[in-house]
Amino acid sequence: MIQAKGYAAQSPATDLTPWNFERREVGPHDVQIDIAFCGVCHSDLHQVNNDWFPGIFPMVPGHEIVGRISQVGDHVKKFKAGDLAGVGCLVDSCQHCANCEADLEQYCLEGNTPTYNALDRSGNPTYGGYSNTIVVREEFVVSVSDKLDLAAMAPLLCAGITTYSPLKHWKVGPGHKLAVLGLGGLGHMGVKWGVAFGAEVTVLSTSPAKKEAARALGAHKFVVTKDEAQFKAVQGTFDFILDTVSAPHDVNEYLGLLKTDGTHIVVGLPSEALQVPAFSLVGGRKSVAGSSIGGIKETQEMLDFAAEHNIVSDIELLDFKDIASGYERMLKGDVRYRFVLDVATL
Ligand code: NAP
Ligand code: ZN
Repeated sequence: MIQAKGYAAQSPATDLTPWNFERREVGPHDVQIDIAFCGVCHSDLHQVNNDWFPGIFPMVPGHEIVGRISQVGDHVKKFKAGDLAGVGCLVDSCQHCANCEADLEQYCLEGNTPTYNALDRSGNPTYGGYSNTIVVREEFVVSVSDKLDLAAMAPLLCAGITTYSPLKHWKVGPGHKLAVLGLGGLGHMGVKWGVAFGAEVTVLSTSPAKKEAARALGAHKFVVTKDEAQFKAVQGTFDFILDTVSAPHDVNEYLGLLKTDGTHIVVGLPSEALQVPAFSLVGGRKSVAGSSIGGIKETQEMLDFAAEHNIVSDIELLDFKDIASGYERMLKGDVRYRFVLDVATL
């Protein structure tokens, strides 16, 4: 076994503390990555807190992983030691169902294997990127450009692909009015993609203080959702709303902002069910849809697009010892716009 070190929550809702653990040996189809940086996603906080389901503890969160490959198995074709590489939210899937065949491993019909807080196909717990090294099948590893800032690319592996994939799926582009609801880790990437794809982008935010920053990200308009006049002024104006909100919220309020035939795309994952009155959908032929991360092929496409267009995440580097305060600030919506753990501080 490979000796690894990281930070883990030993039980739900407790602070993360240093923890030594073991990774499997590098198999013939595996790649070992020396992790350099790992982004801090709100999903990490949800899972450490058991918001969604009872988790597997000790839990080493982290699914926005970048680093350098240190070892490859005998049958690995795509990578060699020394290459920069990334790992996102998935480390395995059945690889033969209709969805896997269609490069939609995130919707694997037999169930995908998340990077942490899951059991792998041998029944062993998976541990994420808040650690110094990881071993992953090559099919679930992506190439990372050496042209962009490595730390700022880490969040592309989850926040990036989770917002890129739905905008591509719904073909959001020139002539469309896109609203991004919630300007956090996912939301700020949604703004960057929306602008790059040619849509008119409006940020819908509870935080008036984010206005200037939203403009700097390229957003064309900014609406403070708590301001009644501002909220009223955008009724019936959007083709799409990309909902990245992590906390329970009233989706019905936002459906009124859509044009006829508009689509409310849910990517945020609050623990409570969304309430959608039939009348809000029927009057205006509106849709509420959802989207989960993206497949591996699309993740590579997104990273290549990012390298070509010089798009990275806006980050604050975080020391491992400061994870608890990082989580607190994330919960308050006070991150510009993604914390990234620097493995040098482990
Ligand atoms: P984040 O950085 O904390 O951003 C969430 C933003 O939502 C906040 O910055 C805030 O923006 C807004 N917000 C928070 N509480 C709110 C409330 N009560 N009402 C309205 N707005 C509120 O989180 P993140 O990492 O972007 O993740 C967002 C959500 O997406 C999480 O639930 C996460 O688990 C989920 N997620 C889903 C996928 C997927 O595949 N679908 C992948 C990754 C993450 P303002 O200050 O602008 O209001
Ligand atoms: Zn995530």
